[in-house]
Amino acid sequence: MRHFQQYIDGSFEDGTASFPSIDPATGEQWATMPEARADDVDRAVEAAHRALQSGAWPAMTPTARGKLLMKLSELVASNAQSLAEVETRDTGKIIRETAAQIAYVADYYAYYAGLADKIEGAHLPIDKADMEVWIRREPVGVVAAIVPWNSQLFLTAVKLGPALAAGCTVVLKASEDGPAPLLEFARLVHDAGFPPGVVNVITGFGDQCGAALTRHPKVAHVAFTGGPATARHIVRNSADNLASTSLELGGKSPFIVFADADLESAANAQVAGIFAAAGQSCVAGSRLIVEASVKEEFLALLAAKAAAVRLGPPDDLDTEVGPLCTDRQRQLIESVIDASVAEGAKVVAGGQAPDRAGYYFPPTILDCDGVAASAISTELFGPVLSVVSFETEEEAVELANNTPFGLASGVFTQNLARAHRMIKRIHAGVVWVNTYRAVSPIAPFGGYGMSGHGREGGLAAALDYTRTKTVWLRTSDDPIPDPFVMR
Ligand code: NAD
Repeated sequence: MRHFQQYIDGSFEDGTASFPSIDPATGEQWATMPEARADDVDRAVEAAHRALQSGAWPAMTPTARGKLLMKLSELVASNAQSLAEVETRDTGKIIRETAAQIAYVADYYAYYAGLADKIEGAHLPIDKADMEVWIRREPVGVVAAIVPWNSQLFLTAVKLGPALAAGCTVVLKASEDGPAPLLEFARLVHDAGFPPGVVNVITGFGDQCGAALTRHPKVAHVAFTGGPATARHIVRNSADNLASTSLELGGKSPFIVFADADLESAANAQVAGIFAAAGQSCVAGSRLIVEASVKEEFLALLAAKAAAVRLGPPDDLDTEVGPLCTDRQRQLIESVIDASVAEGAKVVAGGQAPDRAGYYFPPTILDCDGVAASAISTELFGPVLSVVSFETEEEAVELANNTPFGLASGVFTQNLARAHRMIKRIHAGVVWVNTYRAVSPIAPFGGYGMSGHGREGGLAAALDYTRTKTVWLRTSDDPIPDPFVMR
């Protein structure tokens, strides 16, 4: 049985309590995790606050901060395989995906390493002859970074990279589901040589650990990825400390296929968009909106691909869909499929959990044409695709935007003019045209509506971890004139 520790103020230690972590491939406990409670949270935030105010970190030049981030990038790259193995064991995400994703996470740290000394202030052409006025960019303060269990090293990099580049300090809270890879990642932070307290890594439950962290008086910003219900708790908690928030939430992303699209290519993208990571992706293209004239042909292509998907143990390199992370998730999926079928949806592929240990669920396609099925509106976070068809472009836009979410979207067409019209009209933070599920440290990412606010990735994300200080310096030696007139 493996035993993991939390990382506070440069030291590895046990939490106030501990809890079991379950291997989703077997349903059995494989490790114990340190459970942070209010006292651990307080020590972590205090350590981060001390590291922000005094000691080596604030004295470091931005270039030196960038070098530490580059070291972290190298360590992530050289440890990608072992981190991937831990993530696969603890979350059930397939090793093919965790290994490739974590190797790419190194590029995110490299990108923000390069940005650290390019965050510039500004000199203002002020309208007063005897003044020099400029703007300094300073770190926003202690950041609480809270991530869910899926893609957690990736979702951490898009917070930690820009926050550290900007000079902030961070308390990172891993999800209580599958926290092992982040607790392991703390060892790389330590080895990279960040001063104690600059990065602290804890895990625990929402009510005890998450709530204490987000309302802590010394937290200045909460960078959150997770579900909308949790986001509401966080925003309410931020009424206590008035911390700013960035929220990366759920999605129910439309995947729109026009009759003129390359159907084979679109089908492959749809498989990647909904069955990869067993559909446990915030950007999952979970609503197929397909032009009626090609619906049957496209569904036949998809059903054949879904049937050929290799469901199996996540640590097997041949596996394409592994187990879901939690049994809770599988139960939700089953209940929404049952409700959708009762509402009139037809099962085109999958639909039933296999009879084996672990939290497996097969690629599932539900034809929901003409039916107000629950599967169309509920974020399932599983390998379940709902399908509806349209006759006109106008109808496609209406169906795509008929959701409170607005995270990602895909448009498949060979018609350039139509692609441009769709790009403008889709209500989402990301539009992929003739591709899906592509990301880069260079490209901002984030949602509209109930998918949250704030953007991760790109230059602007680093600026979001700064606040400006306006400096006025008088250059005249003459005495200050009439003190009762504003200058
Ligand atoms: P969740 O909201 O249940 O949990 C996310 C994190 O919040 C966990 O670390 C959890 O412990 C913590 N938390 C729970 N209650 C809290 C509270 N009261 N105060 C502070 N923290 C609290 O999400 P989940 O079910 O683990 O993850 C799935 C969700 O995450 C889906 O909705 C998915 O779409 C979303 N997601 C979004 C993105 C994105 O970038 N937009 C990426 C991945 C996942």
